[in-house]
Amino acid sequence: MKSANNTMTYQVYLVGGAVRDALLGLDVVDRDWVVTGAIPEQLEQQGYQQVGKQFPVFLHPVSKEEYALARREKKQGQGYTGFICDFSPSISLEEDLERRDLTINAIAQAENGELIDPFHGQQDIANKCLRHVSDAFVEDPLRVLRVARFAARFKEFNFHIAAETMRLMQTISTSGELASLSPERVWRELEKALATSHPLTFFHVLIEAKAMSYLFTELVWPKPPVSETQLLALDKAQRWAMICQHTPLEQLNRLQNALRCPNQYKNLAQQVRSFIEQHAIGMTAEAWQAWLMSVSAIKKPQAFDKLVQVLSLITSTQAKDWQALRLAIAKLNATDLIKQGFSGAELGEALRKERIKALQVLDSPLLKN
Ligand code: ATP
Ligand code: MG
Repeated sequence: MKSANNTMTYQVYLVGGAVRDALLGLDVVDRDWVVTGAIPEQLEQQGYQQVGKQFPVFLHPVSKEEYALARREKKQGQGYTGFICDFSPSISLEEDLERRDLTINAIAQAENGELIDPFHGQQDIANKCLRHVSDAFVEDPLRVLRVARFAARFKEFNFHIAAETMRLMQTISTSGELASLSPERVWRELEKALATSHPLTFFHVLIEAKAMSYLFTELVWPKPPVSETQLLALDKAQRWAMICQHTPLEQLNRLQNALRCPNQYKNLAQQVRSFIEQHAIGMTAEAWQAWLMSVSAIKKPQAFDKLVQVLSLITSTQAKDWQALRLAIAKLNATDLIKQGFSGAELGEALRKERIKALQVLDSPLLKN
């Protein structure tokens, strides 16, 4: 490709996940590109828009896909910000590929379709092997989580982790560097892992890599383990709540705050755990009434739906029986009570009694007789 003034030429290659996923026969959603032999001004002249602050990453003027200048990284000090980055136009494609995490993620494809694969990623795809590219693997602790996530994502293809790569992951864990990862980076990997068809594999790999006690110190790993088949019927937030079910409430709060979990995840996991700690199947109508109100069952039917799906799995009960409790109280309305002259706190109390009565007359396996 020619630059604007025709003095310097640069090359563009497709890299990373898009090349890997195409070789695996998967649909490619996201495409990342690397550019060699260019300086930022050249790309800007062509209408690319710079987005990366730390690294020179550009958005294509039309496709808006990400184009990064080829770079070399050198570790300096702790954490991900402790990288010195060289992105001069003399950096070769091979040098850029060498700083990548896994060989299967270090394959590039030229515009003419030719694959450039100096670290034998294609062979590792054929052998179903997740293998680090170089010893520089240990320089970014996030790679422990990335490998665990790819193990979960590609479990369906029977991928395994190379023994030497697992040893490097254990080295990273015991170095204590995982503590330097930002909560956002950890959460992003965890959330992606929860979306895979083998979410538990992510945790099993982290356990083997000795990373759990550094990353999710507060999490009480479920024993006996949760069923993966059950998890697959659930969405990401529900899967997280299932995984957190054995973690005591206070610990769970610390865990979720440390991870800066989005509220939707946080609330569901909290509600599930607090039911386990503070409530029980077979409670009185009065206790059910209080619980239903505490989880906003009437006002938030969709969130309630998701909650009872998880709780019915955990308690081996039927979701429809939980829904029946909600329906019994949701159909009541205050109009009659208002006509009878109730208002304010008295109205609230009268409604509460009505709800308890409506629950008492239900023939529900969840209720104490
Ligand atoms: P996904 O399908 O989840 O997007 P991906 O491989 O495309 O997978 P990205 O996070 O989009 O993952 O990163 C693109 C590429 O950049 C990776 O394939 C890998 O080559 C490289 N990469 C990303 N993060 C790291 C990292 N922390 N260390 C080394 N290489 C990385
Ligand atoms: Mg990607």
